[in-house]
Amino acid sequence: MSSSPPRPPGRRRLFVTTALPYANGPFHIGHIMEYIQADVWVRFQRMQGHEVHFVCADDTHGAPIMLKAEAEGVTPEELVGRIAATRPKHLAGFHISFDHWHSTDSPENVELSQDIFRKLRDRVPSLVTTRPVEQFYDPVKAMFLPDRYIKGECPKCAAKDQYGDACEVCGAVYAPTELRNPYSTISGATPVRKSSEHYFFRLSDPACVEFLREWTQGGRLQPEVANKALEWLAGDAGMADWDISRDAPYFGIEIPDAPGKYFYVWLDAPIGYLASLKAHLAHLGADFATFLAGEDVDQYHFIGKDIVYFHTLFWPAMLKFAGAPYKVPDNVFVHGFITFSGEKMSKSRGTGVSPDVYLDLGLNPEWLRYYLAAKLNARVEDIDFNPDDFLARVNSDLVGKYVNIASRAANFVTRHFDGHLTTAWEAPEERLLQTLRDAQPAIARAYADREFGKAVREIMRLADLVNQYVDAEKPWELAKAMATGGGFRERLHQICSVSLNAFFLLTKYLAPILPATAERVSTFLNENALDWDNVRLLSHCKAYEHLITRIDPRAIDALLAGPKAAAQTPAGGVAPEPAAAEIGIDDFARVDLRIARIVAAEHVEGAAKLLQLTLDVGEGRHRTVFAGIKSAYRPEDLVGRLTPMVANLAPRKMKFGLSEGMVLAASGDGPGIFLLAPDAGAQPGMRVK
Ligand SMILES: [Zn+2]
Repeated sequence: MSSSPPRPPGRRRLFVTTALPYANGPFHIGHIMEYIQADVWVRFQRMQGHEVHFVCADDTHGAPIMLKAEAEGVTPEELVGRIAATRPKHLAGFHISFDHWHSTDSPENVELSQDIFRKLRDRVPSLVTTRPVEQFYDPVKAMFLPDRYIKGECPKCAAKDQYGDACEVCGAVYAPTELRNPYSTISGATPVRKSSEHYFFRLSDPACVEFLREWTQGGRLQPEVANKALEWLAGDAGMADWDISRDAPYFGIEIPDAPGKYFYVWLDAPIGYLASLKAHLAHLGADFATFLAGEDVDQYHFIGKDIVYFHTLFWPAMLKFAGAPYKVPDNVFVHGFITFSGEKMSKSRGTGVSPDVYLDLGLNPEWLRYYLAAKLNARVEDIDFNPDDFLARVNSDLVGKYVNIASRAANFVTRHFDGHLTTAWEAPEERLLQTLRDAQPAIARAYADREFGKAVREIMRLADLVNQYVDAEKPWELAKAMATGGGFRERLHQICSVSLNAFFLLTKYLAPILPATAERVSTFLNENALDWDNVRLLSHCKAYEHLITRIDPRAIDALLAGPKAAAQTPAGGVAPEPAAAEIGIDDFARVDLRIARIVAAEHVEGAAKLLQLTLDVGEGRHRTVFAGIKSAYRPEDLVGRLTPMVANLAPRKMKFGLSEGMVLAASGDGPGIFLLAPDAGAQPGMRVK
């Protein structure tokens, strides 16, 4: 980064990642929790003036994706492309501020994976070895079978249809080759044993063990993570050499100088962090090797507790022994899982919270960010999503304590003082503000240490102090007494001005968690709440508009009811509507509303409520949309009409065909559906804003 200006002393450049999600399905709530944790930390670091490069990527390779694509009749590239297309909705929806999102199925990852392998092999020959491995082979599919694609009878209790690694009936653990009457779950064929040459990374090499002892026990890791690593390093089982190759056919990256051999997906997945960084730096016009060599550069990985082994042993060892330009991570930050009312979230049992449903219902993403932040700490602990607790914390803390300060004070200031604030207050007011300012270093420490729960508790303690002050001073009584003179007007002005300055400080402290609110407060109070060092006093405020609304319990019911309740009926308005949560202009801008001309309309055989509409949205092609307006309109009356439609709604497969959007209509509790129409002059394709 030779072109960047000199950085002030103490400023760091941070390369930060979250674990790569496997690209065989959309995000679940566990991914979103990790992204929120990392995002809060990263936003805090940006507010400190550090230069942050926050990146991630889809993890695309391996047998599961190859076989899933085959089962669906698409290429693996098409499958991962389809999943990648679902990512922006969630990342933008929860305000996750990645600087770049990449893919492990990319030229950068091929180049870096092969380079790291070559450097390991050539620089430390004792670390990479080969030896034959006997495995089950499917003679019909002509491929070696990963353990999860082999079933058979348990060698201990003879239960049928057990997986290749453990018996679900008696709990026995065994190797797939021990199964009786094994069969391939892909072809049904009886697998045969076949030998093949595999590549191994020798984690047991003395130089490697010595390095890992030093890296894991040097005080950087969380204590429970360091202890776990030590167990592995000291034990025999953990330090087994790592099989890093797979035979063709495999969706992955070819091993150099080894025809028909591919890197096991777990080798190239973490290298995807670097591939994403490299692509990101290229966009910035910066050089990858130069960046990593920077003495002011730190490398951090946020991960879940299930992948500690890979990230505290293989990953640092690979980078260490590959050598320059690669850099050993400075730390790995491990979090626990998210449970739901004390139970593991399970898609199959329908428990838990779907990020997709959350966004589809229009729930405020900052509610979830706040709730999770309030529960997160630096330990490897599971955290629990409890719906009642979620509702209570958001409504009582965020709305009742924090937002309440601004709404009470701002109304008086705009009504009686034309939006102007005073700074001529008394000693008790100055003491209150000083108490809030004095808390800043402790709050910063808590954020830096990923003790977000601690930061939130401290911020809410300060909010309590401000509310106690307002309750004691009773500005509403001063407002009533103002007409009598007697200095009541000046006192009201002081109290409200101090309240808003206090609110501004609280907003600054909450900004890493509530970035959208902080931006709106910055506009509302004419001061930048995203600048951690901003100590200026406020001079005026705009009219108060709702910053964060309460959660309606009905919205929680809809969230827990899952995708069925969130699926909107087209144009019908018959789906139960939870009280709409407040959204920002950015949220609204995500909805692409366009004017459409209805070029054809017809009944749908077998559908009681639907009409099939053919729409011209000025795209040079027609779209089909099924609309629940049959009870109100005859098809022939609709032809030629203009109506607004949601043009970027994901296409939905319905019983009668694919619906590519949604037309807009009004309806209430009573009968009647009323299609919207633009004024004369609007043309198909025009954007509605
Ligand atoms: Zn068994």
